[in-house]
Amino acid sequence: MAAAPICIACNIERTLVSIQPTRNRHDVWQYECSTCRSIFRLVTQRASLESDDAAFENPPLRAGSR
Ligand SMILES: [Zn+2]
Repeated sequence: MAAAPICIACNIERTLVSIQPTRNRHDVWQYECSTCRSIFRLVTQRASLESDDAAFENPPLRAGSR
């Protein structure tokens, strides 16, 4: 999805070395430059696989109309 960031010192694509989950459904993606070994951290919002937004999809119960 997102392209790997470029090391501006070496002008090459960094390599994704680790993804660490943080609070609020965000992840810290660590990219390392294979040439100068510098680390670039990128905080991204995690894709909502467990979408707790759609938790309330119960069909509306009709109260007995008697
Ligand atoms: Zn570099």
